[in-house]
Amino acid sequence: MSRRLGWAIVCALAFGCSESSAPPRLNVVVISLDTLRADALGAFGATAPTSPTFDAFARGAVVFDNAFAQAPMTAPSHMTLFTSLYPSVHRITNFGLGENRPKVSAGEVPANWRLDPKVVTLAETFHAAGWRTAAFHGGGNLNASAGFDDGFETFDGRPQNGMNANAGQPFDAARAGEWVNAHAGEPFFLFLHTYLPHAPYIPAAPWDRAFDKDYAGPIPYRDAFLRSVRAGEAGPPLPGADASALRQKMANHTPWQFWGFVDPENAREVEHLRALYSGDVRMSDDALARMLALLDSPGVAEHTIVVVLSDHGEGFLEHGVFEHPGKLYSELLHVPLAIRVPKAAPARVAAPVGLIDLYPTLCELAGLPIPVGLQGRSFADALRGAPLESEREVESEFVGRWRDTGGVVEPADLVRAWRTDHWTYLVTRKGEGVVEELYDRERDPGEHANLAADPERRAVLDELRAKVAAHESACASRRATIRIVPAGELDANTVDDLRALGYVR
Ligand SMILES: [Zn+2]
Repeated sequence: MSRRLGWAIVCALAFGCSESSAPPRLNVVVISLDTLRADALGAFGATAPTSPTFDAFARGAVVFDNAFAQAPMTAPSHMTLFTSLYPSVHRITNFGLGENRPKVSAGEVPANWRLDPKVVTLAETFHAAGWRTAAFHGGGNLNASAGFDDGFETFDGRPQNGMNANAGQPFDAARAGEWVNAHAGEPFFLFLHTYLPHAPYIPAAPWDRAFDKDYAGPIPYRDAFLRSVRAGEAGPPLPGADASALRQKMANHTPWQFWGFVDPENAREVEHLRALYSGDVRMSDDALARMLALLDSPGVAEHTIVVVLSDHGEGFLEHGVFEHPGKLYSELLHVPLAIRVPKAAPARVAAPVGLIDLYPTLCELAGLPIPVGLQGRSFADALRGAPLESEREVESEFVGRWRDTGGVVEPADLVRAWRTDHWTYLVTRKGEGVVEELYDRERDPGEHANLAADPERRAVLDELRAKVAAHESACASRRATIRIVPAGELDANTVDDLRALGYVR
């Protein structure tokens, strides 16, 4: 008997399959466009032409109309994507300043931890099953010292890799392309990421003016000016702007925010800021085109699951903030999510899903067992044309401060958001205080009319409180099994990335 025939018999006996019928192992590519709110894209209702590539991709994909990130910041959101654990469980936080930098309450120790090495990440699961793994990303908060490299044979966040593209450097996917070409004959898991939509919004021509041609005010403040203002230096001259007035405004705002000195009372300035963000979104759409083009080669396209998503949205004063600080309203959490699976019919899915659900979903689609202990739920049914259960609900959270309770680090100040297909329930616990908010998203999609004190909503409120209490209990149990591990030193490139993104002065 030949070895080949022998293996076919063993395979058939052991696994109920034959060699010829074994499904090909699909490649998986996850593309993260950082800081991209869903409604900035045509596929989610934007009227400006910001996203021709995404929209064309979406027409051939399964699109999730109600996908929510589990955190409004880069590191906790991506770590949830990679671990299918909630942010208060994996405890990986952004590196930053002020409120953006969670601390352990005793001794003001910064939360600067790496993922517990025994947590099995999405990349580790695919690598252990025989997939080649690589990440080409924009660095910054996605750094190896926090454990984002776990499971990746190649983990490339170097400034010269072409992916960051946030501080004026051109986007270039060539290095990622070289990796794809070198591994096209093997199953691979590839993570691609760019910071293009992230502040500061300084899109290149023609996108700096394309979405607000008539504006004649002082924005955009160029990158060199922003840096000098934040460093307290005189800086270069700024034609058309009263630089001293801007510096005075800047002095009254949280310094890590790029746009703290834009006058929130001046709707025209805010409108232009949003137009510049649209320019960045358009540039990220071009970057998406170049990333998708890497997968066009014969033998790759028809064997590749492609996921396009963002890690969180961006605020334009809908709830009083710019950028994406620790708030959990929809503009900061409603993210694009579109998935193209070979042979799957395009569809739109209304049921709420979370990025936390992607890990088990990708395992199921690739035919891998779903690891024990994941907190997300697979939505693979939706990619096979089956309806998702209507009671799906998603939770998001922001930890503002941590406390050490006898060796287990727990969230001290915590905001949770619980979303059903109808309601948003927000509960903020800070010190001894508890603040609740309840929004009817069917009537109030912008989440502005708080109904928590409305007696007629008491039953809804009680039901949501009970769900959050059960969720908190489940998170506490899971958290108790995961150690806190100190992070290593940040390398110089990572510190530079963080400075350009506004997290380090
Ligand atoms: Zn981000």
